[in-house]
Amino acid sequence: MYDIIIVGAGTAGLSAAIYTVRAGKSVLVLEASAYGGQIINTPDIENYPGIAHISGFDFATGLYNQAKDLGAEIKFEKVVGIETDGSEKVIKTSQREYRAKAVILATGARNRSLGLPDEKELVGKGISYCATCDGMFYRNRVVAVSGGGNTAIEDAQFLSNYCAKVYVVHRRDKFRADQKEVERLKAKDNVEFILNSNITKLISDDMGLTAIEVTDKNSNDVKNIEVSGLFVAIGQAPDNSSFENLVKLDEKGYIEAGEDLKTGTDGIYTAGDCRTKSVRQLTTAASDGAVAALAACGYIDSL
Ligand SMILES: Cc1cc2nc3c(=O)[nH]c(=O)nc-3n(C[C@H](O)[C@H](O)[C@H](O)COP(=O)(O)OP(=O)(O)OC[C@H]3O[C@@H](n4cnc5c(N)ncnc54)[C@H](O)[C@@H]3O)c2cc1C
Repeated sequence: MYDIIIVGAGTAGLSAAIYTVRAGKSVLVLEASAYGGQIINTPDIENYPGIAHISGFDFATGLYNQAKDLGAEIKFEKVVGIETDGSEKVIKTSQREYRAKAVILATGARNRSLGLPDEKELVGKGISYCATCDGMFYRNRVVAVSGGGNTAIEDAQFLSNYCAKVYVVHRRDKFRADQKEVERLKAKDNVEFILNSNITKLISDDMGLTAIEVTDKNSNDVKNIEVSGLFVAIGQAPDNSSFENLVKLDEKGYIEAGEDLKTGTDGIYTAGDCRTKSVRQLTTAASDGAVAALAACGYIDSL
């Protein structure tokens, strides 16, 4: 029986581990794939307060080592379900069952990909899913944004402030984003909209992405557009389906919780990108990890 089991060894989960072990609890972190979560492949993080530059790998490894050295146990098993009969929680992984007094769900989210060949390989070499994070690396260069929601429009607006040119490629002729924001973007000289079109191919050389192939859905015309960067902003998707009987999910599948990070179920907390929130960044994931950890410790102490 552990005091606390944390699901997910991303920034939120590992931050929660640091806080819970430092509070004297026995802690197990269960991770489905590699430690570090989404940030692991990012070449350079430059918006984490106090650290001017660090690679995603070094950042994640630092967190992992810190949590382990402080005494957290970390195992690489995917959690497939959790049952609770009040104070005791049974955590089922693909391999076995564990028991804990409290659980922190820190399962993160995945950016939806375009599903094109080479897309994965080009992440960090021209493909990005986060303009706020990686946009600065494309200063004075030509980039494209794929998507038609608020994130895509905000990304294009942000990039247009310092990129030479920004193409917005959208599969429809209407945007889900706020119309006012779309109009503001349209007024910019260095932004060009390519509507009713799909990105059908990524063209690259040894150095990375060099162009995108775009196909017009109405005419089937195909053209190549030279770009150094493509920002894919077609939404994010959490995977909390294993926990839908345990906690309340919003319409997009994110876990609902108050700012104290308590879910509606006693002893079950959540942290990071997997929960309903407006800013999904490393700082907010780490902050969630701390808040959820201390709330979980308080819950155990009150048992
Ligand atoms: C390419 C890219 C670049 C980014 N750059 C920046 C940046 O420069 N600055 C910044 O602030 N933010 C950046 N972000 C956003 C940042 O990475 C996320 O906000 C942050 O990683 C969220 O942390 P998290 O722990 O909540 O989730 P995640 O990082 O998604 O970690 C969740 C972990 O849970 C695991 N997991 C999921 N389900 C299960 C399960 N059932 N059982 C066990 N384990 C499970 C996953 O495998 C994963 O390791 C970037 C994101 C991307 C994709």
